[in-house]
Amino acid sequence: MIIVMRTDADLEDVKSVKNKILGIGLEVYESKGLNYHLIGIVGDTSKVDAESFRAIKSVEKTIHVQEPYKKASRLFHPENTEIHVGTKTIGGDKLAIIAGPCSVESQSQILEVAIQVKKAGGGFLRGGAFKPRTSPYSFQGLGEEGIIFLKNAKQATGLPLVVELMSVEQIEMYEKDIDIIQIGARNMQNYELLKVAGQTKKPVLLKRGISATIEEFLLAAEYIMAAGNDSVILCERGIRSYDNYTRNILDISAIPAIKRLSHLPVIVDPSHASGIWWMVEPLAKASIAAGADGIMVEVHNDPQRALSDGKQSIKPEKFSHLMKSIEEIARIQNRRI
Ligand code: PEP
Ligand code: MN
Repeated sequence: MIIVMRTDADLEDVKSVKNKILGIGLEVYESKGLNYHLIGIVGDTSKVDAESFRAIKSVEKTIHVQEPYKKASRLFHPENTEIHVGTKTIGGDKLAIIAGPCSVESQSQILEVAIQVKKAGGGFLRGGAFKPRTSPYSFQGLGEEGIIFLKNAKQATGLPLVVELMSVEQIEMYEKDIDIIQIGARNMQNYELLKVAGQTKKPVLLKRGISATIEEFLLAAEYIMAAGNDSVILCERGIRSYDNYTRNILDISAIPAIKRLSHLPVIVDPSHASGIWWMVEPLAKASIAAGADGIMVEVHNDPQRALSDGKQSIKPEKFSHLMKSIEEIARIQNRRI
């Protein structure tokens, strides 16, 4: 529930509203701008009597938020959230371009790809060190050695690192070495992992679960935010459907839907969404045209020999081409790359 205060609200009234909320054992989340002053009630508001707040003079109105998420809701936070990572911003005019291999395979591989990504104008380097593979017999990632290789690639190129966190125990290492903590589709509803990611100060890139509704996706973001971390980037990466021509179905409609429901930045991963290298560029273009704040793309210097997701990985030359074609779409959208 949200209490809309008059913009000229009396300080005593604001205090009364807050004390009333705290008195019921719920949390206060305040947001104030030039033309609005909102006090959100966080927690189980099912038994809160909205009418009783209206007795306080400076209360303009009370709004029942239908959606069960609050911190992630645009209703409560009208402006787009911009997330700062070093000198870069995600969710602003400039699109976030995250690229790199599915898995880190060797020092030379990640370094070579990082250099090419940087050369083509990519902003962030991705690479998995601990891999969530469907089969236990598939390559599981290089583990901590992979993190070291990623750090070296960052040192050489300056590209911030986006790496998937797989277990609660690894959080300290990620907090120290990784710039954006990725929570993968398979772990979108791993609530302990979400809470731990929420306790860090690092931005979190949360991928949509393969069968998650938009509401479940936003509630997963709410877990991270409720634990204290407001820097969440949402990533649409395709959902499971009946057609198996593509690996998943890219839910383009999720982009405008989430942008309407939430203030958080939304990016798209066309690589996992399609599972097919030649679809990555058209889907990336469509995503930017639909309003995405960026893309995450798998780039490999030798896709045929990749240890994971080779068939959806594009070569650096193709990535460079993709960058040029999304630049045109970005311009139409008043964005830049
Ligand atoms: C990945 O980005 O490496 C990955 C495993 O993606 P997802 O969690 O979307 O399957
Ligand atoms: Mn992959």
